[in-house]
Amino acid sequence: MKVIIVGAGIGGLSAALHLHRQGIPCTIYEKVPELLQLGVGLTLLPHAMTELDALGLVPALDRVAVRTEHLYYRTRHGQGVWDEPRGLPAGYKVPQFSIHRAHLQQVLLDAVRERLPEGALVLDAAFEDVAETAEGVTARFRRADGSAFEAGGDILVGADGIHSAVRRRFHPDEGMPRWSGLMLWRGAVDWPGFMDGRSIIISGGTDCKFILYPIGPGRTPGTQLMNWAVVVRQAGPGGSPPAREDWNREAKHEDLRALLTRFTVPEADIAAMVAATPVFWEFPMCDRDPLARWSFGRVTLLGDAAHPMYPFGANGAAQAILDGRALADVLASGARGAEALRAYEAERLPKANDVVARNRIGGPERVIDEVESRAPDPFADVDAVLPHAEREAIVRGYSRLAGFATDQLARARA
Ligand SMILES: Cc1cc2nc3c(=O)[nH]c(=O)nc-3n(C[C@H](O)[C@H](O)[C@H](O)COP(=O)(O)OP(=O)(O)OC[C@H]3O[C@@H](n4cnc5c(N)ncnc54)[C@H](O)[C@@H]3O)c2cc1C
Repeated sequence: MKVIIVGAGIGGLSAALHLHRQGIPCTIYEKVPELLQLGVGLTLLPHAMTELDALGLVPALDRVAVRTEHLYYRTRHGQGVWDEPRGLPAGYKVPQFSIHRAHLQQVLLDAVRERLPEGALVLDAAFEDVAETAEGVTARFRRADGSAFEAGGDILVGADGIHSAVRRRFHPDEGMPRWSGLMLWRGAVDWPGFMDGRSIIISGGTDCKFILYPIGPGRTPGTQLMNWAVVVRQAGPGGSPPAREDWNREAKHEDLRALLTRFTVPEADIAAMVAATPVFWEFPMCDRDPLARWSFGRVTLLGDAAHPMYPFGANGAAQAILDGRALADVLASGARGAEALRAYEAERLPKANDVVARNRIGGPERVIDEVESRAPDPFADVDAVLPHAEREAIVRGYSRLAGFATDQLARARA
């Protein structure tokens, strides 16, 4: 039994660790010749953390990330809509982490290099094609110098992100990702901590939003590595992105200066913080229409390749991590080949597709849209705008749908 994983992102690396833990050999093939420190902040919610804890990664995450203990949803005027404890203070058995994507990738990579046999990660290997044979699959990869090579295995898992070449092989007419009409600017900079140093503030609904949270220790005393993001609507949903969306497209300060005046965040001078961020990125927020099928014979999809989603609700990395665990469990149960991949898909596809759909309407942050649409101007009492029970139904309904309601995880552990 050997699994070929295409892509050494968050999903591919964590799937490899889960497979290894269950005694199933795998090799990861990654397109880039060198894994660079790319991205900014990610949230690791309790369902994903339950799986990373099972891999013994909490101490490594503690060294580079922040244990998030409180979440605040506010209007863009800074008025409270919802707030709740997170992680251990919320009664979970595992902490919730906010982390730089590159640090998370490094933690996973270190564990892969430590635990898996030499040669389990092959860099400079861009997936091109796969053919099914009587006993398994043969995949073709290309190196940056133009040379090609083949690798064989029992099954192949496409964990190659939102522009998945594996997905394209089975859905050739799908085209570009679908643009939400929202532009997302993201950056991180060393900045003095706010509140308890363990909080997330999300101010504003879908069309005009500011996000602020620390993702690690800063390099200078008295600072944390502060992650910020601005979301602003530029067009209606469903069209083509204004430019090919790319996680690494640099943005300009002048694009943001006027937009920042729309937000009130009393805990931080956000204009100064953004101005102090030397490099930051713009990203047309995209997803893809949910698929009816991920598995084709002995080939399947995982993570963003299977279900790219808007980041509302912070579930992109989490759902990828859950996929890897589910795949490893199915194979550990003795299922093999196409049958195993059908079982994996039956377990994961409906749940992940539900999250994609819910994120299109704002995820849990829709509660802010509901309040802002009823009360566009500052208000005296949020309960008079939208009663507590209705706000709770939106936020907690999302936790359940995404799989991290406290009782769901208690059951999973039992
Ligand atoms: C450079 C980068 C920066 C990101 N920054 C952020 C961020 O700041 N915040 C955030 O929330 N999310 C970010 N994401 C997305 C986030 O990592 C994913 O949404 C989520 O973690 C799911 O992970 P994944 O493993 O499915 O996909 P990804 O993490 O996107 O990983 C996919 C991997 O597949 C590799 N790959 C692509 N094509 C091929 C191919 N043909 N052959 C072999 N390998 C291939 C890619 O190089 C990459 O390593 C970023 C993704 C990337 C690639």
